[in-house]
Amino acid sequence: MRIVLMVSLIVVSIAVGSVRAAETGPASPQTQHVTLKWLGTAGWKIQFAQTKILIDPFLTRKQAIAVEEWKTDEEAVLNVINGADYIFAGHSHADHIADIPFIAKRFGAKVTGSRTTTNLCLSAGVDKAQLTTISGGEKLDFRDFSVQVIESQHGVLNRGGQKRQPRSAEITNPLSGPILGKHFVGGGSYLYYFTFGKLRLLSQSTGNFIEENLHGLEPDVAILAENSNYDWTEAIKILRPKTVIVHHYDDWHAPLSSGMTAAVRRRAQRLERDVKFVDRNIRVIIPEFLQTITLE
Ligand SMILES: [Zn+2]
Repeated sequence: MRIVLMVSLIVVSIAVGSVRAAETGPASPQTQHVTLKWLGTAGWKIQFAQTKILIDPFLTRKQAIAVEEWKTDEEAVLNVINGADYIFAGHSHADHIADIPFIAKRFGAKVTGSRTTTNLCLSAGVDKAQLTTISGGEKLDFRDFSVQVIESQHGVLNRGGQKRQPRSAEITNPLSGPILGKHFVGGGSYLYYFTFGKLRLLSQSTGNFIEENLHGLEPDVAILAENSNYDWTEAIKILRPKTVIVHHYDDWHAPLSSGMTAAVRRRAQRLERDVKFVDRNIRVIIPEFLQTITLE
């Protein structure tokens, strides 16, 4: 008896839900919220109106070995990603694009990225019609949002105590064989400056800027990639975002389930201090894995 009652309640609640949706209809983009979910590294899932966007989605979270064929952990991806209309790649290192071919093929998503991103997607069998190659300066309009592509540069890395600016070589043709770890060359680095209704959101995939390219941008929200080799002061002064979200501070080769240590979190807090040093009124968000942030 009880079971029957529960089932009928469920049916009623589904019906009410669908009637409400029909009465309200889709809201105009101006009145919609932007919902962000952090995927770890520089990865984000963005929902705006009916549109699902991914930036640098990387859920496999394993090092790409130079001479080994790359294999996406499909289960790890599908645990978190259930659809995608558009994917934007900030640069083409493995921890930014290695899972993109699988996601693009699975969901038919359109991919925007460097020549390397395009060529590796083609190599993996993504349809050419899904791919847009950028070189900086593009203004792309979509149904619910627009995005400006801004040339940037890769963050300086520490390798064995040496500071090194990664080369920005490109893969210029589709590969004749499988994608190996060594094919994830950095390629061009780009910022994406999104407009969602009235909200402007700047996404940075690696901790560096070409500062002269930042003038004129007025982001409400800037998603910044932690990098202790970069002096943030000038860029923050130019951008003056209302909110900063810190990302790419985690250990990207450990699974999401292993969480974050205090030492890892301190990397993000260091960037928070740099931002607050310029203007303590800037709100800084240090997200947890898979945390959802709703922007008004
Ligand atoms: Zn990189």
